[in-house]
Amino acid sequence: MRVEYIVVHTAADFRDEGRRDTSALEIRAWHTARGWNDIGYHYVVRRDGRVETGRPENQTGAHTRGLNHKSLGVCLSGHGDLQPMTEAQERALVRLLAQLCKKYKVPPERVIGHREVNRLVEAGVLEPIYRTAKTCPGKQISMTLVRVLTSRALKEG
Ligand SMILES: [Zn+2]
Repeated sequence: MRVEYIVVHTAADFRDEGRRDTSALEIRAWHTARGWNDIGYHYVVRRDGRVETGRPENQTGAHTRGLNHKSLGVCLSGHGDLQPMTEAQERALVRLLAQLCKKYKVPPERVIGHREVNRLVEAGVLEPIYRTAKTCPGKQISMTLVRVLTSRALKEG
């Protein structure tokens, strides 16, 4: 798989008003219950700042229709419509994104939130059938800020 994008998601876990520190194990259980063979994401970034691995990076994920074959999926624990990231989670996310951007030579502009696939549809990169109504990774998550921080982390090496 050629990684051209990194897509950020929320676990959309409603428990504890979106503060639940959802584990990769729990998400794997939800996804396998849907009949998938594994968790759909490559990484889960916990609210306490731990980073858990999901699907191996060299395997196609199941997280963003239209982009799975050319992206990695990173999921934030909790619920991004209800709670912003914790400071530890934001730091861990940015560190992970910078590492992945460097490894796969993905520019920070191609770190997108799931909801931003609509921009790719508007740009003609994706077919209109891939348009989404999702708010993922959540209304409390600014992808502009995530990109600024990732780009800064890359520059600082
Ligand atoms: Zn998503």
